[in-house]
Amino acid sequence: MSQTDQPRAPIGALPEDVQALARTARPDEYAAPHPLYVVWEITLACDLGCKTCGSRAGPARSDELSTAQCLDAVRQMADMGIREVTLIGGEAYLRDDWDVIAAEITRRGMTCGITTGARNFDAERVARAVDAGVRGISVSLDGLERTHDAQRGSPGSWQAATAAARRIAESPMRLSTNTQINRLSLPELAAVADLLRELGSEAWQIQITVPMGRGADRPDMLLQPHDLLELFPLLAWIKQEKLTPHGIRLFPGNNIGYFGPWEKVLRYGGGEGAHWGGCGAGKWCLGVEADGKIKGCPSLPSEDWTGGYLGRDRLAEVVADTPELRFLRERTRDDLWGFCRTCYYADVCKAGCTWTSQCTLGKAGNNPYCIHRALEHEARGEREVLVHARPAPGVPFDHGRFDLRVEEAPPADPEATPTIGGFDLATVTGLTWDAGSVWSPDELRRRLKRIGRRDLVHISG
Ligand code: SF4
Ligand code: SF4
Repeated sequence: MSQTDQPRAPIGALPEDVQALARTARPDEYAAPHPLYVVWEITLACDLGCKTCGSRAGPARSDELSTAQCLDAVRQMADMGIREVTLIGGEAYLRDDWDVIAAEITRRGMTCGITTGARNFDAERVARAVDAGVRGISVSLDGLERTHDAQRGSPGSWQAATAAARRIAESPMRLSTNTQINRLSLPELAAVADLLRELGSEAWQIQITVPMGRGADRPDMLLQPHDLLELFPLLAWIKQEKLTPHGIRLFPGNNIGYFGPWEKVLRYGGGEGAHWGGCGAGKWCLGVEADGKIKGCPSLPSEDWTGGYLGRDRLAEVVADTPELRFLRERTRDDLWGFCRTCYYADVCKAGCTWTSQCTLGKAGNNPYCIHRALEHEARGEREVLVHARPAPGVPFDHGRFDLRVEEAPPADPEATPTIGGFDLATVTGLTWDAGSVWSPDELRRRLKRIGRRDLVHISG
């Protein structure tokens, strides 16, 4: 998943707890933006088999950086003014020296965090993280137990993750959580919010599942752009009723977009006047892969967005000089296409999340997952629909392609009961965190079915 999705460069006055985050830009930095935050895949090795995994993690890469190369990379990050580094994988803890790298990050004055599926974040690993000075750990929870396990491809992974979350919450580190939003988790989000309170999570980062890697092989689990019309009011209600009263901060990810009536409520902790300011890849954040690939954002497709390699190139020079890292800093409306190019917000928004637009429509610069856009279509009696058109090749950080169709929206029925993801509102709001799932096992299997080339001909034809 993308790990860049917390405040970096909002415009406007922010709540104090958001300003305090190391990755939040200071006012003087807007004039000369520079990366503040690195998300670093230190190994591709993973003990889960998630069906949404953008990097198709499993075995380690054959050419992962050595300990010495990693420690040199930490030095380079500190030298160029990075303030926060989040270690990811795969599973970061499957590398023997993960806590050596974490300790060096904190020794050099940067904040270190870890994002994990927590299949095996046992007491010993929690203690090692504390000893290394890790500030906080974000545990991934993609729904209630059966829904989460189905997506993670591993029975028992929800039990393991929630047990690890409790362990972390009881340690000196901060527990936060992150959730992918797709057709499976959408109707369970309110119940997941209750679970977070139960676990002691201080913050919740959410993002829309993007068809990258294994996620690209399962189009039936993805949201359609018009589903945002249900998602946004639901998020605002969850924040007001289930999060804020319990001190849990909500961080909608960079692909939960953009503007519209909920921007002020949801974006950047609800700061007065704060709003989305464009993709921060290479501008406020960087992504590094375990073999040293340097990108503006960890989620961007590697083939198109790798500017250089740690272990071979100097990080600061790659950031300053390569087109792959500079492009998004210099992007203008002229680089956009489709609806986004014509949008009122285009000069500021610049088509939202680059990763999301490229992985859905095959090309950056036009992002269908946008609430402003969904509302504009709704006002015209239309909606946008993604239709799977081309499969992904099957390598880490790859993507396929969808066609975007505009169709007439079904007429609104004033008598109909409101629904979220096909379930009536009472079911969604009445679901409890220990209910297991709102879905039947058959429905979970159907939604998570890996699509083959023969199926694609059928769907797109
Ligand atoms: S339509 Fe495109 S440019 Fe306009 S707000 Fe949405 S994502 Fe941004
Ligand atoms: S591509 Fe840009 S907006 Fe999307 S997650 Fe990466 S940095 Fe954030």
